[in-house]
Amino acid sequence: MSPVNYKALLANRMKQDFSKWHAQQHVQEREVYRFLHTMKGTAGTIGLMELSEFCGTQLASFAEDSTALLPVQSLEHFMATLTAFFTPEEPAAEAAPSSPEDASGKKSFVLVIDADAAFAASIKESLEQQGIPVVIALDGKKGMEFFYTLQPQMVILDSHLPDADGFDLVTRIHEAAKSRYLPIAVISADDRIDNQIRAMELGATDFLAKPLNLPFFAAYVRNRLRNQEAISQGTLYDELTGAGNRKYFNHVLPQMMNLSERTRTAFTLVLLDLDHFKKVNDNYGHPAGDEVLRTFSQLLLNMKRESDYFFRYGGEEFALLLPDTKAQAAVLLVDRIRAAFAETAFSSASSEPFHVSFSAGISEFRVKQDLLVSMADQALYQAKKNGRNRTIVYEPAEGDLKRHLNIIIIDDDSLVRRLVSKQFSGWKPEEFDLRIEEYVDGASFVESQWYNAEENYMILLDGVMPKMDGLEVLNHVRGQYPHENIVISMLTSRNNESDIVLALKNGADDYIVKPFYAQEVVARVERLTMRMFK
Ligand code: GH3
Ligand code: MG
Ligand code: MG
Repeated sequence: MSPVNYKALLANRMKQDFSKWHAQQHVQEREVYRFLHTMKGTAGTIGLMELSEFCGTQLASFAEDSTALLPVQSLEHFMATLTAFFTPEEPAAEAAPSSPEDASGKKSFVLVIDADAAFAASIKESLEQQGIPVVIALDGKKGMEFFYTLQPQMVILDSHLPDADGFDLVTRIHEAAKSRYLPIAVISADDRIDNQIRAMELGATDFLAKPLNLPFFAAYVRNRLRNQEAISQGTLYDELTGAGNRKYFNHVLPQMMNLSERTRTAFTLVLLDLDHFKKVNDNYGHPAGDEVLRTFSQLLLNMKRESDYFFRYGGEEFALLLPDTKAQAAVLLVDRIRAAFAETAFSSASSEPFHVSFSAGISEFRVKQDLLVSMADQALYQAKKNGRNRTIVYEPAEGDLKRHLNIIIIDDDSLVRRLVSKQFSGWKPEEFDLRIEEYVDGASFVESQWYNAEENYMILLDGVMPKMDGLEVLNHVRGQYPHENIVISMLTSRNNESDIVLALKNGADDYIVKPFYAQEVVARVERLTMRMFK
């Protein structure tokens, strides 16, 4: 559906509201507030930025909770102005500004680690207006978790954090990012020269004093992301492990397919995923986790044939491309690797040596079938389900094992629901099936039988809803269901910092400020849900 159709729907809905108001002569002040509030979000979402801004400025004139009755007459001018926004021949919606892409073709985004939620939210807002997505962590623990799972292209952090020393975090992030170019900016109200020197020596690329000048700051971030993109473009190898990176994989795979079709030989893809790797990090720390990744990669690089390719496919997931090799031969190789890795003991300062295992999924390429990756992925999933530490070769019959991602949109605004779900229907991920469900309010969602432990969920949750508001739904989900397979992002149209802070503190993974561009939402969801499919 084109933006013009949404515009017509919105115009129609506004007309209905206005005629209802006219019919009753008086309107409750809070109803006008609510009307403007919804209008602001929806108009912005469908690209009518001027209208959205207008509604935003009008909001200040009405009280959110007031039940005072306003004569409709006093609103005539206001209604006429709003109607004028819908006169025909409005220019088409502007395209969303966009941020650069990184080496894997993913959109660049910035991780902000700052306990001052109001400050973080203001940075997020100003960068996202420029098309640069931002994810916020309010403490060091969440910051490191997001750093590892979301792999941002830039990190901005305050030197004062409630649970960690910001400088210590700089050291850890710098160490983890090794020689990959990652801009790390320390921002601090304490800009004594000693602090600046310390930040730079530990690996920060920049030091900025608070308060920030936002226009300068936005230009600065774009500048760093451009550098980051330019530098990472040329790289084909993952710096931590020495394996080929995802970009290289995407380059080699089609070449192999072509060659295999021409020469009529089979080749095989193996996906390898370390078992319970999250626990390794939790129990022994991220540096120990990194050491496991390096050692595992070294082992693979030594054991594979010269002509085989080895890649780091994602965080703790790897891929082997084995030319001229059938699945059964690949199983033998993987078993040898499994035996050797099982003998590798990792030491940790604080406890006994430990061992790590991996699961593997294998698919063989026989001429003409481009679902190779998704087949290996399904086999890998099966290996995990059957108890881990094993290899499974994809069998064509087990087609229904494909994993599901359920996108749940909970918003009382039907236009937002339609717009967002429409965008998702255009997204065709290879690794899993997508299901989209919509709920008109929190209560109907909570009462429904939405959950199945085998599946994965992305919940897009409106903050302001009648009956049960977004925060209550959030608390309900976080209180009653596991975290691993449920990602939650708030959809919020108010810049009310305390709500945002509460949402993040109560377990929301992200929030998206309305007005948003629907395409932007899909890109963010893609990134946030990635961790569930690795
Ligand atoms: P499963 O057996 O089902 O695969 O469980 P898992 O814990 O291995 O899988 P999950 O995908 O839940 O967690 C993967 C973890 O890998 C989460 C993330 O923090 C960690 N990770 C990803 N990249 C890196 C990295 O570069 N270094 C370290 N230390 N950890 C990483
Ligand atoms: Mg794993
Ligand atoms: Mg994984």
